[in-house]
Amino acid sequence: MNRQNKKIIILGGGTAGWITANLMATHWQDKGFEITLVESPDIGIIGVGEGSTPPLKGFMETIGVSEAEWMPECNATYKVGITFKDWSLKPGFTEYVHPFVAQPDQFTIPAFFHNSFLRRKGIDLEGHPDQFFLATEMIRQKLSPVAPENFPFEIAYGYHFDSGLLGQFLRRVAEQKGVRYKEATVAGAMLDAQGNIDHLKTTDGEVLKADLYVDSSGFRGNLIQQTLKVPFISCAESLFNDSAIVFPTEQEENFAPHTISKAMKYGWAWKIPLTNRNGNGYVYSSSFVDADKAETEIRAHLGLLDSDVETRQLKFKVGRVAQHWAKNCLAVGLSQGFIEPLEATALDMVQETVVRFIEAYNNGDYTDKYRDEFNNRISARFDAVRDYIVCHYRISSRRDTDYWIANSTNEKISQSLRSILQSWMAGKNITDELLNQNLDIYFPNVSWNCLLTGKGIYPDQQQLRPGSDLANKYKIEDIREFNRRCALNFGSHCEHLRMLQSI
Ligand SMILES: Cc1cc2nc3c(=O)[nH]c(=O)nc-3n(C[C@H](O)[C@H](O)[C@H](O)COP(=O)(O)OP(=O)(O)OC[C@H]3O[C@@H](n4cnc5c(N)ncnc54)[C@H](O)[C@@H]3O)c2cc1C
Repeated sequence: MNRQNKKIIILGGGTAGWITANLMATHWQDKGFEITLVESPDIGIIGVGEGSTPPLKGFMETIGVSEAEWMPECNATYKVGITFKDWSLKPGFTEYVHPFVAQPDQFTIPAFFHNSFLRRKGIDLEGHPDQFFLATEMIRQKLSPVAPENFPFEIAYGYHFDSGLLGQFLRRVAEQKGVRYKEATVAGAMLDAQGNIDHLKTTDGEVLKADLYVDSSGFRGNLIQQTLKVPFISCAESLFNDSAIVFPTEQEENFAPHTISKAMKYGWAWKIPLTNRNGNGYVYSSSFVDADKAETEIRAHLGLLDSDVETRQLKFKVGRVAQHWAKNCLAVGLSQGFIEPLEATALDMVQETVVRFIEAYNNGDYTDKYRDEFNNRISARFDAVRDYIVCHYRISSRRDTDYWIANSTNEKISQSLRSILQSWMAGKNITDELLNQNLDIYFPNVSWNCLLTGKGIYPDQQQLRPGSDLANKYKIEDIREFNRRCALNFGSHCEHLRMLQSI
């Protein structure tokens, strides 16, 4: 294929489409590619997806955008982790933080692993993750994770943002990079004799032709699923949620840099702080509760029974396509699949898909030479994320509704997750299990340890034994003091956001 003037059409202007446009325009700026993003004026974006993971910071840096430029425009705030509430009923374990690991944590993680391991052997040691991580201290003190220049360690953080505003912002940046924008609704796609997409046809009868098509059309999967008929592999038998109610609430004076995920009777509710409002959502399973009852539950929980706040109901499907890159089409975003939003991993998946695609396409000299390798890699990532999220439900000690009973007794989990849980309950070091399965690159060991210790998952023991001096080698007070002193380097979260707004 001729590399010069290669035409790319990105179908869809949601966050996935605009992230793709920016990454392709940045990485291929001197390659002479012509990139056009086509978006329907009639089909809206999904309008959720307001929490992220640390790689989004790398994305903004790659496309050359500073926090002062994008954050105020998107009402963005910082995020250093997710606080999980009420997922476990075990005393002492009803709440924990899954932190984004910061460099200073390298000093305290050995103590966390040591205590967590020996606690599973029945020794009376503090194993709750909240004692060990700087992010937890930042959340407690509502601090901004942006370190002063003289602080010699990296702090990993993500963001919360208004997804609609982020899309508009990314569109402007992409257009500055030469991406063309076209408003049109695509009615269908025609295939050539080899089964590649030959052209798209709009509802106005216009023909849009390219060499490469990116399907970012959302859950519809217009090209990858409808045109190319790539099978969709559902994971609904291990993840029951398929619906969400979303609505805003007023922002508080002073808020912490975290997402809150609170377990509810039939799912869980998120609270995401933006500078002008909180984004809220109740993710639930329609097999266990109807929309009205779910709405009443979340309204009662937030004291909104008499409020006229408008809510929006969404349906979603969980799973992934069998191939993310098929023929001359790359699926990115909801069109390629969705593992429910519990760990806010969808945009990370978007980024990973596009970056790995660019790498594979470049290495294959702009052919599909590395397509299978690419597809295997992205599918493995989806499956690993799925298992980490399934684990949240499988190990919950809630039994208050059929929903939680079905989740916690669900045997339809992957062999991979089963092995991790068996290894953990046998008191083994799960590092080996994760390494053997090559899983450490998705959710690292520390995340698995947080998930399991945070919910108080320990082998049944009659009584905990006091530890020897060797077992007690790490003093929790010293670790707390270390994190407290590290935290002295950081300022107020809200003040930092105000400072960004005034630049
Ligand atoms: C309840 C819920 C909560 C979520 N929370 C998070 C989170 O916290 N963090 C996270 O990372 N992700 C989250 N996600 C996922 C996140 O919302 C998406 O990954 C993200 O918004 C990207 O969506 P998209 O661009 O793929 O699709 P969409 O936003 O649906 O965009 C689809 C685009 O395709 C266009 N289009 C569709 N059909 C046509 C056509 N025929 N012709 C022309 N244009 C067309 C539409 O106009 C639109 O521009 C959540 C998802 C759900 C359902």
